[in-house]
Amino acid sequence: MTRIKYSKYSVLRWLPKEHKYKKYRLPVGACIYSDNMDRVVSCASCGNKIKYGDSYTSRQIHTELGIGFAVCYECYKKEFKEAE
Ligand SMILES: [Zn+2]
Repeated sequence: MTRIKYSKYSVLRWLPKEHKYKKYRLPVGACIYSDNMDRVVSCASCGNKIKYGDSYTSRQIHTELGIGFAVCYECYKKEFKEAE
């Protein structure tokens, strides 16, 4: 398995209104991937605690390689709205 290294310095957030990326500081506990669906992680956007199995892959918050972080459903929906 390929391990993905990331740090708070290589995380980017897409700003739909400004059409550009900005470096983004993740909430503590945010994650990209877990093989434990019951693991409690933080939504990378709002920081709320969610089960990894209930999370969605962010379209706005990702590493420089484009790998999205886990976000809650509410934030995921918001991202779609903002992209319109
Ligand atoms: Zn959220």
